[in-house]
Amino acid sequence: MELSELLGTSFACDCGRVHHVPVRRFVYEHGAVDALPQIIRQDGGNARRVAVVADVRTGDICGRRVEESLRSAGIEAARVLVPDRPHAGPMCDDVTVTAVVEPLRGVRPDLVVAVGSGVINDLSKWAAFQLGIPYLVVATAASMNGYSSANVAPTVGGVKRLIEARAPVAVLAEPGIIEQAPARMLAAGFGDTIAKHQSTADWVMNRWLSGEYYCGFCAGIVARLEPLYLAHPEDIRDRRPEAVGGLFEALFWTGMAMTLMGTSVPASGGEHLFSHTLDMIAEIRGERHDLHGRQVGLGTVLSAALYQRILALDSPVLKPLPPAVDDRLWSAPSVAAAVAEQYQAKQQRLEPIRHQIVQRDVWDRLRTELAAEAKSPATIHTWLKRAGAAVSMVDIGCSRERIKTALLHMHEIRKRFTIVDLAWLCGILPAAADDLIDQWLA
Ligand SMILES: [Zn+2]
Ligand SMILES: [Zn+2]
Repeated sequence: MELSELLGTSFACDCGRVHHVPVRRFVYEHGAVDALPQIIRQDGGNARRVAVVADVRTGDICGRRVEESLRSAGIEAARVLVPDRPHAGPMCDDVTVTAVVEPLRGVRPDLVVAVGSGVINDLSKWAAFQLGIPYLVVATAASMNGYSSANVAPTVGGVKRLIEARAPVAVLAEPGIIEQAPARMLAAGFGDTIAKHQSTADWVMNRWLSGEYYCGFCAGIVARLEPLYLAHPEDIRDRRPEAVGGLFEALFWTGMAMTLMGTSVPASGGEHLFSHTLDMIAEIRGERHDLHGRQVGLGTVLSAALYQRILALDSPVLKPLPPAVDDRLWSAPSVAAAVAEQYQAKQQRLEPIRHQIVQRDVWDRLRTELAAEAKSPATIHTWLKRAGAAVSMVDIGCSRERIKTALLHMHEIRKRFTIVDLAWLCGILPAAADDLIDQWLA
């Protein structure tokens, strides 16, 4: 069965659950923007008044074309411009979403059409959800997997959050636009996609250690697409249409796996914590951070390196996690409180996991299962390098100090158990931090 046949359906999965696929249409083809009015008639509730949400750049790239396409079909189209920050593009946070919601209230649209990638898509999804309006997205870059997800990952009061909203009714993209997006965005999408190997390993780990719900279909959802962009990663760097199209579709279905499960578990594990932590550190210090997927790519190398060291242990001698979060790092009181709450929740759930790990048969089985999922750090590193993605701390604009701070505090920000926590329990962190940086990120 083709994945596309699942769009807009509910289906009984081998995992025992009925999964719902809320996105009714996925169009990656030349002429997608021209087909927009017809798609709105069929899948967008036949909206008559549409708000087109874009920033100055995506408005130029595709926003005007979208508006012309809508108006030519007699659909009213009003532009809502997402404001830039001083000297930087827009950010998905609680302040900016208000700057989108207010003009939307004035427009009173039947449908929100987001034109953009990560930040614009997230802001539109969040704002539309707050107003109870459906939305669809015309994507401008294959830079991340959030198009098809129901979640938004904003910064609220300086803390990276995950907010449940609603998935779009349709995801559209013009291949010509996706292929011409900046190379660093394409490389970011590549990083976010290959992270799935490591996040699935974390999922399998939690399945065996704490009985976390696991779905083989969601875990393997992009396996059939992988050859398109992984067989020759330089095809991404060279913007070959088949590879870029494969990557875009893989991003769509990876995001969908999160929507099907109702959590970020299928596509976000310890490797993502590295990027989230870098974002939070940058926010606290008033500095810039790189694109999500570029940071996630390096996080994926780190995760793979942790797996490699942990799986080499015959019988780990467990240490305690550090007792508390670092208040000097999380210096803003609201951030410190939110991080501490997550960390305490994790600490409270740790005992049964520790109990499992020290059983010889459980550990042996776990090592076998995880070895089958996790990639080697050399493999991930080579994929990233061949695809033209970031492979070092300099590439993502980070000092050694900032990288090491992220590496040593990324386990604090979320309650879910990941490979990073296991590395602390096994004594690989903090001991190997400098070594890992020298070997994989320098
Ligand atoms: Zn399932
Ligand atoms: Zn991601």
